[in-house]
Parts: sequence; C-alpha cells; structure tokens
Amino acid sequence: MTKVILLIVAVLVFFWLLRRALTGRKTGTAGPPGKGAAQPAPELVACAHCGVLLPRDEAISSQDGGAPAEGIYFCTQEHLKLGRR
Ligand SMILES: [Zn+2]
Repeated sequence: MTKVILLIVAVLVFFWLLRRALTGRKTGTAGPPGKGAAQPAPELVACAHCGVLLPRDEAISSQDGGAPAEGIYFCTQEHLKLGRR
C-alpha cells in the first residue's frame, strides 16, 4: 500500500514540476516570436543618407569612417562615403 501512495506522490510531483517548467518557459518567451527571447528589441537608427531604419549594431557609424560626428549612422559603406544628405 505504501508503494502505491509513493507512486501517486511521485507522479503528482512529476506533473507539478513539468507544469512549472512549461509555464516558466512560457513566461520566458513572452516577447516577440522568433530567436532568443533574452535579447531586447534592437534600437533602430536612421541612415543619414537615405533614412532607412536599421538596428544600431548593424548600422555603420560615421565614426568608423573617421568622421568626428557622433550619433550619425549609415546603412551601407556606400552611403557612408556619400555622407549626409
Ligand atoms: Zn542609406
């Protein structure tokens, strides 16, 4: 009889842990669907030449090209060369 009770308790604990893991994962991926939920939404910057919006880490900073201006980004090396418009 004790074995049966232990088995029931084990099953209940198993399902409790399973449900907790599933709900924990659900709240973890509550953000936008797609890759890694831990990543925050990237900050968008506008290309100073054509005005297209792109994530800041993908944008080319004008400082990379030697220009002293800060906070100015370009979408491509070409637009960096062409400069601000
Ligand atoms: Zn551009």
